[in-house]
Amino acid sequence: MSKIKMTTPLVEMDGDEMTRVIWQKIKEILLLPYIELNTEYYDLGLEKRDETDDQITIDSAEATKKYGVAVKCATITPNAQRVEEYKLKEMWKSPNGTIRAILDGTVFRAPIIVKGIEPLVSAWKKPIIIARHAYGDMYKNVEDKVAAGEKAELVVTGTDGAERRFLVHDFAGDDDKGGIIQGVHNTRKSIESFARCCFNYALDLKMDLWFATKDTISKKYHHTFKDIFEEIYEAEYDAKFKAAGLEYFYTLIDDAVARVMRSDGGYIWACMNYDGDVMSDMVATAFGSLGMMTSVLVSPTGAYEYEAAHGTVTRHYYKHLKGEETSTNSVATLFAWTGALNKRGELDGNAELCKFAQNLEKATIETIESGVMTGDLVMLSTLPGKKKVNTEEFLIEIGERLKKL
Ligand code: NAP
Ligand code: MG
Repeated sequence: MSKIKMTTPLVEMDGDEMTRVIWQKIKEILLLPYIELNTEYYDLGLEKRDETDDQITIDSAEATKKYGVAVKCATITPNAQRVEEYKLKEMWKSPNGTIRAILDGTVFRAPIIVKGIEPLVSAWKKPIIIARHAYGDMYKNVEDKVAAGEKAELVVTGTDGAERRFLVHDFAGDDDKGGIIQGVHNTRKSIESFARCCFNYALDLKMDLWFATKDTISKKYHHTFKDIFEEIYEAEYDAKFKAAGLEYFYTLIDDAVARVMRSDGGYIWACMNYDGDVMSDMVATAFGSLGMMTSVLVSPTGAYEYEAAHGTVTRHYYKHLKGEETSTNSVATLFAWTGALNKRGELDGNAELCKFAQNLEKATIETIESGVMTGDLVMLSTLPGKKKVNTEEFLIEIGERLKKL
């Protein structure tokens, strides 16, 4: 059997700890026997980032812009303890943050659904994909504590130097104990880019798009998000959505939350920064294991970076280093690969590559639905006769099913 060829390179970003171990095994067991893998390799492992003063991360993001598709392994974001552990020159920034800033992208988190692992919300039958706007609002705030008798104002200085002042609160009065204030902002450019990423990705996945804010209370701030989405939708996407039979649906955030709980899923839910932070953790937990959650960074110009939503699974890595057996779930990392290969195939008109990626996903789901799974899933699955396998056995089992397909 001849191997599948790839015309354009895929950007491969290697990572750290247990996911780095899994990365290698996925390639050995499930990819290299079938594909002449054409990747441009960037080692984002912490040692290499330190050695290159993090230039490797920037280079990998630039390569993603150039080629359009990347697959990334989970990486350590160093804290003080990691600086010590790896004797780092500096506490390097989060690679995901650096890559996201360069691609100006939006992150979409999607659960992988299998029979036997039922969402905690019984109505949910299809995935709910959360898109979080990852710029501004509370995450770039200024805030302070204010003493009794002080007065807080918002001042905007115009281009002509003229000032506009808004009273936030006057902490005056005999019974006043002071309080707290916060100033937040967002930019038109970032909101527009978020909107375009969401509309494009909805068309890409052929899924409806929901968006919600609290525009009734915040008549300028939140309302501007609503307006920008609406303007861009009307001007650029209405016809495309109609042609694809898709809907753009806007509602208030509290109404959205209520509807999400009653829905059967199957849509993308675009969220403002804070809503996305909170709701993505809720939705991920309700869908089951972190090992079954994938994540895609989509840039407004149409570059894609696929990864698992989880981290480097440190606790399992230390067991692995001690020579103990691990049962780490590789599904999200594997689906990062299949997502990227499928997208590469789509962009290159390489039907064989797309078919392979789809078969590999099918083989993975069949493996779990036949009762063979890693420890995290055994705890959740309702299948009779389920069997726990170790990290490598799981991949070998998928390989056996893949051969049949
Ligand atoms: P984590 O690696 O996601 O792991 C947290 C816990 O969740 C694990 O200890 C494990 O629970 C469970 N888990 C996660 N993924 C699993 C999988 N595939 N299979 C089985 N169980 C899984 O998060 P963390 O411990 O907070 O972070 C570890 C490192 O990852 C940190 O250095 C952090 O900076 C980095 N990180 C990277 C990314 C990224 O690159 N996107 C994202 C998050 C964190 P049990 O131990 O109970 O089995
Ligand atoms: Mg969160």
